[in-house]
Amino acid sequence: MVQESETIWMDGKLVPWGEANVHVLTHALHYGTGVFEGIRAYECNDGTSEVFRLREHMVRLVDSAKILGFAAPYTADEMVEATVETLKANKLKGAYIRPLVFVGAGVMGVHPGDNPIKTCITAWHWGAYLGEDALEKGIRVKVSTYNRHHVNVMMTKSKACGNYVNSVLAKMEAIRDGYAEAILLDTSGHVSEGSGENLFMVKQDVLYTPPLSGVLGGLTRDSIISLANDTGYEVRETTIGRDMLYTADEVFFTGTAAELTPIREIDARVIGEGKAGPVTKLLQTEFFKILKGDNPDYEHWLHRYEA
Ligand SMILES: *Cc1c(COP(=O)(O)O)cnc(C)c1O
Repeated sequence: MVQESETIWMDGKLVPWGEANVHVLTHALHYGTGVFEGIRAYECNDGTSEVFRLREHMVRLVDSAKILGFAAPYTADEMVEATVETLKANKLKGAYIRPLVFVGAGVMGVHPGDNPIKTCITAWHWGAYLGEDALEKGIRVKVSTYNRHHVNVMMTKSKACGNYVNSVLAKMEAIRDGYAEAILLDTSGHVSEGSGENLFMVKQDVLYTPPLSGVLGGLTRDSIISLANDTGYEVRETTIGRDMLYTADEVFFTGTAAELTPIREIDARVIGEGKAGPVTKLLQTEFFKILKGDNPDYEHWLHRYEA
């Protein structure tokens, strides 16, 4: 269950949590015509708080809407302001933040007509997405029987609500079969990403990750590429076959929700030593230092605020 906060930002004002409702004929509810973001705020070790790469998330939200062919009613900067307002109103020092822009009620045809475009931002307290243990020891995953979207079937660069039926199917299958998460292949059979995470593998101290062409351009992915390069590791963005994963030294997921989660087993093959490997651990440690405000070199990624 989501841990309730007091208020939710809806179309320019804060409304009580229980009153943030929509009509059942909301277009997005029927056809998936909405776009969202997943953002995290962290309580820093110096007592302040920060939202990680907040503006870039909001720029991506505006872009996600543009890809679907509708204009977000608020600018990225306005939504940055609204996010901080929401965090402060709820006295949240750390939070998961879920902005959503969606086509509201009006006409009911597939064409959204002039239906209003609604915007809301919800923030609540949320711990580790795949569990604290997962961050420490790594998770067991399976290659999904479902493929990731073909780039001209769904718009893979948009965090469009409708896209996530594919993620839900893959995730439910993985959980049903006793795994923590799924790895989806693209329609040509190459590794793409998890249900809501990008994927990296390490082989002989080189990092590999699928190219941006068919995967969501994760901000965590981007952060880890920068961090790895700055730490002296080479990162190759290249096509990866599932057999390459089986023989990798290390594999891990990145995402706002999953943060940096090691993968210790794929399709009943133990990866490396069957626990978080040294490169994974190093990047995870350094990444959390940044998130906690302890590395001034990456201060430009942090939007500081005081709850
Ligand atoms: C959101 C998401 C990611 C991760 O993106 P971040 O910006 O790192 O949170 C990766 N893949 C998919 C399919 C996603 O929806």
